[in-house]
Amino acid sequence: MPYSDEDCIAISGLQHLAFCKRQWGIIHLEQEWAENFLTAEGRIMHERVDSGYQEFRKGVRQYSGLHIRSQELGLYGRMDVLEVEKTEGPFVDIPWIGLSGNWQLRPVEFKHGKPKNNDVDLVQLCAQALCLEEMTGLKVKEGSIYYCEIRRRNEFEFTDDIRERTIELAKEGHQLIESGILPYAEKGINCKACSLLEFCQPRVKQSEKLKNYYRELFG
Ligand code: SF4
Repeated sequence: MPYSDEDCIAISGLQHLAFCKRQWGIIHLEQEWAENFLTAEGRIMHERVDSGYQEFRKGVRQYSGLHIRSQELGLYGRMDVLEVEKTEGPFVDIPWIGLSGNWQLRPVEFKHGKPKNNDVDLVQLCAQALCLEEMTGLKVKEGSIYYCEIRRRNEFEFTDDIRERTIELAKEGHQLIESGILPYAEKGINCKACSLLEFCQPRVKQSEKLKNYYRELFG
């Protein structure tokens, strides 16, 4: 059954969920947020792409700050940039942005750092593609992430695997919202780069006995 607007969860949260379930829970269940150097840099960088600018160059149109959603997956968010490129493909109508012709859609994300050796950025980009597909009925095959540190765009194909992973994360987010239970802290390599390290305090790996004790206390 499609999700209502009120039940949709933030696309941006999927990268938190892919990074660490507990981080997602602290931000999206406990509503806590702490800024570190990395998050501050990212926030400042996004102020321009969120400004709603439009740019039209030969064969390419860019729209920033568009709101998107998928009722099927229960996701909503705001794109950094939607790029619409002239293509040899079929004639399409995209009334949402008032465009018709031979166009294809490409989501573009801006990240302040450099490419990561995990898929947290890619699932966020893929979630945007899935929203665009539901909203327009068009296939979105590829997207781009511009990494400020290396000043370059990396191109990504939305394979079946990454689509599946993104859909699973969206489902997991809804299940966690429904349960209302903050996932346990499991100290790992991501903790060093986590802005919530002090809040989370993941120093002690919890035994099953301790987990059961918390379950009894907090349900
Ligand atoms: S400190 Fe580690 S366990 Fe805690 S939220 Fe951050 S990444 Fe997750």
